[in-house]
Amino acid sequence: MKAIASSLLLCAAATAHAADITAIKAAHMVDVRNGTLIDNAVVLISGEHITAAGSRLAIPADAKIIDLGNKTLLPGLIDTHTHITGRPEDAGYGIIAKSIPRQALQGARNARVTLQAGFTTIRDVGADGYADIGLRDAINEGDVPGPRIAASGPALGITGGHCDDTMHAPEYKSTSLGVADGVDEALKVTRRNIKYGADVIKICATGGVLSFGDDPRTSQYTLEELKAIIGDAHRLGRKSAAHAHGGDGIKLAVLAGVDSIEHGSYIDDEGIKLMKEHKTYLVPTLYLGDWLLENAEAIKLPKPLLEKAKVVLPQARINIGKAIKAGVPIAFGTDAAVYPHGLNAREFAVLVKLGMTPAQALRTATVNAADLLGWSDKVGSIEAGKYADLIAVDGDPLKDVRTLEQVQWVMKGGAVVK
Ligand SMILES: [Zn+2]
Repeated sequence: MKAIASSLLLCAAATAHAADITAIKAAHMVDVRNGTLIDNAVVLISGEHITAAGSRLAIPADAKIIDLGNKTLLPGLIDTHTHITGRPEDAGYGIIAKSIPRQALQGARNARVTLQAGFTTIRDVGADGYADIGLRDAINEGDVPGPRIAASGPALGITGGHCDDTMHAPEYKSTSLGVADGVDEALKVTRRNIKYGADVIKICATGGVLSFGDDPRTSQYTLEELKAIIGDAHRLGRKSAAHAHGGDGIKLAVLAGVDSIEHGSYIDDEGIKLMKEHKTYLVPTLYLGDWLLENAEAIKLPKPLLEKAKVVLPQARINIGKAIKAGVPIAFGTDAAVYPHGLNAREFAVLVKLGMTPAQALRTATVNAADLLGWSDKVGSIEAGKYADLIAVDGDPLKDVRTLEQVQWVMKGGAVVK
């Protein structure tokens, strides 16, 4: 068996000549690292990977050519904060009647829509019953189309916190799967999530907007609990992400060594300084505010949640604007599910409004996001050795980021999917 396998390998190597090469031609290509356009772009692809990329590269005579004409090529986009198995209606009581299998199937639909929108990689930070992990595996095995997923499974949180089920009356005895109080329980749930396939450990470090009876400004886990969870995640080779709105919770999570702060709505000067010192990524999720406040009635958002949203979301823009200007590392994330999946690229225009150049905004969704995932060797730029995850748009996204809201063509791992 071993001999056959190695001879097959030799055979594959010997035949990996030009016949297996796909050449993509486009008028322009964005160099996301330098924020510049490269004209007369050529990208050579073999199998799932890029073998060369540049201007006017020689194309092997028998290569298959995909000519994108006047379009602009970019690396596939990355959203580091999605809830791929959820949808806006789930923010209210609708979720109670929705089984985990039903959520997983709606995730399959959302994954397809997200990929078609040009997001070839996502980090999913919180799903019921490991539905995101099941979806990740189904996509990897080719059962359903979708982006590459780094998945968290159920988010860890305290009893009655943002990541607990806060909708049911006491007699229902309903508790979310990620609830863990105290160091011992927190370690147990961290390890259980890893046992069932988590790539990243998601923690609810403060209260939230779309939960009942908690305050987004107050911290929920203690420093001791956060250190235990994040330390264990790192020791077991996993990254960690902390949902944190309030200033204190942000600082505790950063001091405990977390890899990213999600939302960051009430970040203050001290938090900004700490995040720069620790090189912790901030994942602002801002576009959702526009959508949620406009559509609250349509999705039957319960009143107490709407009241919180009206206070927190506008404040977040002010504070995150300061963090961006101060130079906190930013990775692109959107909280897709709070607004409809597929509109992820609308976040770019908000980042630009808060002071980023289009090139900086684009870096948050490519090289920065790849770095946060620990996937810099695989995705985030058009370079030899990386997955052939590419998109194309009309016009120049370095002049107008809104071109990214209309992705015309998508390739994932060398296969054209749009
Ligand atoms: Zn979220």
